[in-house]
Amino acid sequence: MKLALRLILLITFLLTYYSCKNTKKTVAGYQGQGPSPIVSTKSKPVQKQWKGVWALTDSTTFFSNDFEGGRLNGIVDDGNNHYTILITAENTPINVSPWYAFKAWTTSPRRVTIKLTYQDSRSRYYPKISSDGLHFKVLDSLNYKPINLGEGEFGINAAPEFAEITLAIDENPTWITAQELYGSTRVKQWIDSLSTLQFIKNYEIGKSKEGRPLHLLEIGNSDTKKGIMIISRQHPPEVTGFLAMKSFIETVCGTTKEAIAFREKYKVFVSPLMNPDGVDNGHWRHNMGGIDLNRDWEEFNQPETSGVRDFLTTKNKEGFEFDFGIDFHSTWDDIYYPIDTVVTKEKGKIVFDWIENISQRLASKKTNISASTKIDPTMVSRNYFYVNHDMPAIVFELGDNTPRPFLKLKGRVAAEELMKLLME
Ligand SMILES: [Zn+2]
Repeated sequence: MKLALRLILLITFLLTYYSCKNTKKTVAGYQGQGPSPIVSTKSKPVQKQWKGVWALTDSTTFFSNDFEGGRLNGIVDDGNNHYTILITAENTPINVSPWYAFKAWTTSPRRVTIKLTYQDSRSRYYPKISSDGLHFKVLDSLNYKPINLGEGEFGINAAPEFAEITLAIDENPTWITAQELYGSTRVKQWIDSLSTLQFIKNYEIGKSKEGRPLHLLEIGNSDTKKGIMIISRQHPPEVTGFLAMKSFIETVCGTTKEAIAFREKYKVFVSPLMNPDGVDNGHWRHNMGGIDLNRDWEEFNQPETSGVRDFLTTKNKEGFEFDFGIDFHSTWDDIYYPIDTVVTKEKGKIVFDWIENISQRLASKKTNISASTKIDPTMVSRNYFYVNHDMPAIVFELGDNTPRPFLKLKGRVAAEELMKLLME
């Protein structure tokens, strides 16, 4: 059995290696800044993940990926309570965001060591641990061992090749995940809890490739025709961007007099989970069409992006004008990606004023700005918002490891400062 598993793992590694060898890394790694080729966004095959429970060590120790957001593609029982797990991507080429999420438990409590290994990637995400799948904490550094350290200080090459984590497990499952779990069910609970407020409704603006609803929150019940558009989670592992967005939205929905006045003047439209299939299937980057959604805002071959396009087009026909657009993401560290005022002129200055105001209030953490002059082809949401709907727009990126209380604070400050500017 052990030999068979080892063979399967070896074959998977070899297939992966050869299928990745001739990929166009420059296109996959393109972050939406600077010149880029048009990448076709026609659907491509996706490797469906086998979901279930692995019973190992004479059926005393169990691993499962069978939950929303789960990702675990293979395990080797190395003996001596040591397990090697393999994490693979939904398809390639792909941005190196090797998401993982699994549960482990045992009938005879013990300490286990789990080695995380990846398909053509390195160990980007520092492990989070939970006993209920809802509350997560960062793994104690004493129980974390990076293997084959990377080079430099930044990006995937700086990450270790593998990581080993040591854990005490018992009969109650322990979740081990790349980031906190916010699958479509949990996000819908958040949407529903907000929607109990009388000025908020939610409705579907389409279905994902696998038929999951694409929810939209509409905040504010005045008859104003001014709007702002917020989207998040085009890329499944980018939970920190989602958490900042969540705090931003909760601030806009708050009871301060500024928020109340703002909701009279503006409707806030939110697509909080752009890629529910990718999130629930534990994808590294793509939707179920095997496509990076944030390259599809030119061709609109995918239902998730066309859902938002059609929604905005309808709103424009109803007479709505959009004064701001934000797309929340995550990357190695906090950074702002606005469009340069060389392109947007007077109209785009509000984005830079906003960044300045946020930075003044959060002076303890400097956030870099990288302004883009390239908006054609649109491809990414920010460019589409600006070019097709005349919105000053930005990609708002949070770091993978940005402390969670700071994410929450930054989301709140960003909302307060935007409300202030738009009310001037
Ligand atoms: Zn992203």
